[in-house]
Amino acid sequence: MHELSVVQSVIDIIKKELEQHPPCTVKTVTLQCGSLSGVVVDSLNFAWEALSPNTFLENSKLEVNIVALKVACAECKFEFEPKNQYTMNCPECDTSFGHTILNGKELNIENIEVDEIE
Ligand SMILES: [Zn+2]
Repeated sequence: MHELSVVQSVIDIIKKELEQHPPCTVKTVTLQCGSLSGVVVDSLNFAWEALSPNTFLENSKLEVNIVALKVACAECKFEFEPKNQYTMNCPECDTSFGHTILNGKELNIENIEVDEIE
């Protein structure tokens, strides 16, 4: 499952990040996932529940923000959000391929919410 390796690398990144900070517990991790990134939110949550127990992420919550696909038309440069990745006809000139993808490939950690330990 692709999502397991995504979550594993997210955990590795957060772990490195937190080494630079005072001791804290992680409350919420927010990921930004483009609709073209190929990850399934349910599977991400499942992977999170499988991998986070008994780590520093125990009891933390995963939140996923989906970024809609947005493209710029190859012909007229009109920017629009196709309904899906298979039908991308430009509403202005009906060109259906060769568009530039502006949003939708993201797979980032958007935010890490922590509680500092006194
Ligand atoms: Zn167009």
